Order: sequence, then structure tokens, then C-alpha cells
Amino acid sequence: MTLQVGVIGVGMIGQEHIARLARKLTGARIVAISDINAKEAERVAAGVPGAKVYASGEALIKASEVQAVVVTTWGQTHEAYVLAAIEAGKPVFCEKPLATTAEACLRIVQAEIASGRHLVQVGFQRRYDKGYRALKKTIDDGVIGAPLMIHCAHRNPSVPEAYVSDMAIIDTFIHEIDALRWLINDDYVSAQVFTPRKTRHTHAKLDDPIIVVLRTKGGVHIDGEVFVNCRYGYDIQCQVVGEEGIANLPEPESVLLRREGRLSTAIGQDWKMRFIDSYDVELQDWIKAATTGKISGPSAWDGYFAAVTADACLEAKRTGETASIVTPPRPAFYD
Ligand code: NAP
Repeated sequence: MTLQVGVIGVGMIGQEHIARLARKLTGARIVAISDINAKEAERVAAGVPGAKVYASGEALIKASEVQAVVVTTWGQTHEAYVLAAIEAGKPVFCEKPLATTAEACLRIVQAEIASGRHLVQVGFQRRYDKGYRALKKTIDDGVIGAPLMIHCAHRNPSVPEAYVSDMAIIDTFIHEIDALRWLINDDYVSAQVFTPRKTRHTHAKLDDPIIVVLRTKGGVHIDGEVFVNCRYGYDIQCQVVGEEGIANLPEPESVLLRREGRLSTAIGQDWKMRFIDSYDVELQDWIKAATTGKISGPSAWDGYFAAVTADACLEAKRTGETASIVTPPRPAFYD
């Protein structure tokens, strides 16, 4: 069976996902596209044979030809589209964040549980990254013993003026928030945020870099650096310190050069290339899951947990205090 997919949002990542769904992955075809910018939706749809443009995301979700939905609009619109997809009983892949507030994410969790079916997957693609998977297997296999600490960094060469302080947590560090608790099978209980001296390459509305410190239920201490004007490249680092050894996230493959008196490798410049393979694996997995009705990727609960943690980080940054991370017990539906 070929899954008939409707995509809402033809911005940057929307176009990337449309290209991989239409030309790279198997088992799906795009039958519907919608965007608030109708002209752009028409332009993108013109490159996807068989894709019809819908005037609104709501109309696309209701269309009988649409069997599953991909939401790649900006965050504020996610809740309404995901709730509409749940109401229509259709699997929905929603780019992160699931929604922009923890309350909105909880409404999605409650709607999904009430529907009685796993329909929602959140776009936390690091869980599909080859390096992160290898790192997780090393930890799960007990190779380094019990994890004690994690040191990690999320660095970006530069960001535009529109990127302000809160985004370092809710748009950028949110990937670490999800990936690290998945990596060590643990949940967070508290957050602190430190603001070192600002780089001269930032602007008035952006504290850069910042350090986020998370503590887990199991007592693991995590320090995460977010440095979005680091200049030199897009660089994701993760080192897990265990009782018996240390495991590092593998570096992306890159040719080692001996040239002009130097030994060097290239460092990528953006997230698109760094995670290109994991987006492919993530969406291929989702196609299969949506076709068989067995969604098993990052869940609405994971999206909710990430939102609660991000809120705590923002509070910790604002107050300078340690903020508690409190959620209701995980519903059995998500076990
Ligand atoms: P973007 O380039 O701004 O694209 C968003 C698109 O949605 C735009 O075409 C926008 O139209 C459209 N839109 C806005 N409101 C809409 C509505 N109510 N109904 C239909 N379309 C609407 O943003 P992006 O960078 O692609 O990001 C989209 C989402 O993906 C965000 O949630 C972002 O956090 C996430 N993302 C995830 C990753 C990842 O690594 N997983 C990477 C990048 C982005 P206008 O331009 O006319 O407003």
C-alpha cells in the first residue's frame, strides 16, 4: 500500500520533507499540500506530480484522499493541526515543537489518549541518527557502566537578528532535551541556566553562549552548552561519562586530509547536512508506522515532556534559581 500524505507548511523544512517524501523515500506519495502562503504552496506543489493544493490545513486534514498528515508550519500553529488530525483519526508527523506551551502539548496528549490510538509522532530526528543510536547501544549494553554525567554542546556558526535568547532553549537545546533523556532512559527533575560572558558576535537580545544544567531522577548531571554564534561550524558534541568508561558521540564522517603542512577534517556548516540521513530514516520509519498503524517514534508524551523541561529552563534563566521539572506520572498509554 502507498500511504497518501498531506503536508501542511512549505517553508524551509517543509520543502526538505516534501522532497524526501516525493523523491527519496518509498511507500508514500504526496497527494495534498497547504500553506498560509497559497502562492508558495502552488509553486511547491507544481514540482510534485499528483499533489493538490488545499486552501487550509483544516481542509487538507479532512480530505478523504489524505491518509496521514505532516505538519511543518511554525510552532504556534502545531496544536490546532495535530488536534484536528487526531479528531480525523489520521496519523500525524509534527515537526518539533509539538506545541509552543506545555499546556497545549498536554491537550494533545489527552486527545490522543481519548482517541485510543497512537497517532502522533514528533520530529525529534536525533533518535534516528546513526551516531546517537550507536552511542545509545553502547550505554544500553552496559559498556561504560551506569552513566554519571553528560557533557554536551550544540554549536551553530551564526544566527540572524530575529533569533533571541529564549530560542536557544525552545528551538535549539530542545533537541538535547529530548535526545539525552532517550539516550539514558531517564527523566529530568531540575534545571539551571548559566550565562557566561557574551561573545562579541551576538546582539542585545541574545545571551550567547549559555550553559544549561539538568539533573535526572537517577542523579545524572548534564551540562549542555548552547553557542549559536560560534563562527567555526555546526558542531554537535555529546560525551557520556559512566562508572566504567566514557562514550563519545561519533563525529560525522569526513575525509582526513594531510595537506599543506596540516592534518584536518572539514566541519559541516548547518543542521540540514549534519542530520540529513536521520531525517530520511525518521520519515521512512514514520511512513511504515503510519501505514501499519503502529506509530512508535517520539511520542506526544515526549513532546510534552520536552516542553515542560524547556519551560523550566526558561524559568531558571529568568530567576537565576534552580527550577523543578514536574510532570504528572507518564500515562500507561505511552509505556
Ligand atoms: P518556515 O521556513 O518559517 O516555514 C513555515 C511555513 O509554514 C511557512 O511557509 C509559513 O508561511 C507557513 N505557515 C505559517 N503559519 C501557517 C498556517 N497557520 N497554516 C499553514 N502554513 C503556515 O519554518 P521552518 O524552519 O521550516 O520550521 C517549521 C517547523 O519545523 C518549526 O516548528 C521548526 O521548529 C521545525 N524545524 C525542525 C527542525 C529539526 O531539526 N527537526 C529543523 C528546522 C525546523 P509564511 O512564511 O508565509 O509565514
